[in-house]
Amino acid sequence: MDNKAFRYRIYPDISQLELILKTVGSCRFVYNEALSAKEAAYKDSGTVLSTYDLIRRLPGLKKQFTWLQEVDSVALQQSIRHLGTAYANFFNTKLHAKRPKYKTKRKSRWSYSTIVINNNIRIGRNYIVLPKLGKVKAVISRDVPEGWKLKSTTVCVERDYTVYVSCLFEYESTPVSYVPDPECSIGLDYKSDGLYMDSSGRCCGSPKYFRKAQGKLARAQRGLHHKKPGSVNYRKQTKKIARIHRHTADQRKDFLHKESLRIANSYDIVCIEDLDMTAIGRKESGLGKASMDNGWGMFVGFLEYKLRDRGKLLIRTGRYYASSQTCSCCGRIEPKVKDLKIRRWQCPACGAVHDRDINAAVNIRKEALRILNDIEIQKVS
Ligand SMILES: [Zn+2]
Repeated sequence: MDNKAFRYRIYPDISQLELILKTVGSCRFVYNEALSAKEAAYKDSGTVLSTYDLIRRLPGLKKQFTWLQEVDSVALQQSIRHLGTAYANFFNTKLHAKRPKYKTKRKSRWSYSTIVINNNIRIGRNYIVLPKLGKVKAVISRDVPEGWKLKSTTVCVERDYTVYVSCLFEYESTPVSYVPDPECSIGLDYKSDGLYMDSSGRCCGSPKYFRKAQGKLARAQRGLHHKKPGSVNYRKQTKKIARIHRHTADQRKDFLHKESLRIANSYDIVCIEDLDMTAIGRKESGLGKASMDNGWGMFVGFLEYKLRDRGKLLIRTGRYYASSQTCSCCGRIEPKVKDLKIRRWQCPACGAVHDRDINAAVNIRKEALRILNDIEIQKVS
């Protein structure tokens, strides 16, 4: 069984939106309450409250805070389960997750999740039926393939009050019997001031509208300084800023989807470097926006599932492979090239002249195919 999520825009009426926001707030309240109960129990008596223990406290809470009775009770349970996952991730040393924190209205996502029980959530032609909300107008932008089973939904309100619902489906995965051809492969080198450079020398920059939106955003933010906090105009301006944010996020996602689709359709094997993005963010903080908003992580995520769906491969080279300092013609390692300012260089051993980024992309492809070859040989022996 495999999972996939579709995201639909929904158009709740005023009373529905009110209830959605109330549910979001109630889930946040229950999450925070469970978090403090868990921490307190541990501090006072060393007891570890399980997710089950915390969910069992819900009826008591509902008696004490009667407004919790108005919202979808499954959503409240789900928010406690999310807390359980947050703790599990925190205690899993491999994940480097942070300790669960209290949610706030200002900083946390405005969302809640609920699961399908007895057909209580249904997708119609132009609506979705959600617990407590009933029929909500929706744009079903993608048809649900036959045999897919709806498992859960997450309702998410953006800061400009547009609302989306993510529907998670379960489906029988059919193994794809496709044999990827190493000849039909490409290496991609992450580029901080674009998206990537590929091993055939094609550079994929990020579209200009990112920068344009940045200017628009800066202007809108300056406009906020002239308005009095709490006033109607102030609120209008924050809404405007939120709208620009969402618009750029949508544009970027759209661009990354198209770019990853193009590659997944054209190549059988895609080779990339396994990067430590948090370290890059730190190192390149001087470069400002460029490196942070080019969305490499999201791009790789899209690429990975699109390739997998087609029976194709994404291969990551090791984190310490010196892709930019190795001559792609003769294999000599030239440590001087470590300096990021060197864009072109000549190999002292074989005389080949290299463009820094193309050379790196070629090496990434070579190294990935070597790794693949090693795996195949191991399989045979
Ligand atoms: Zn060389």
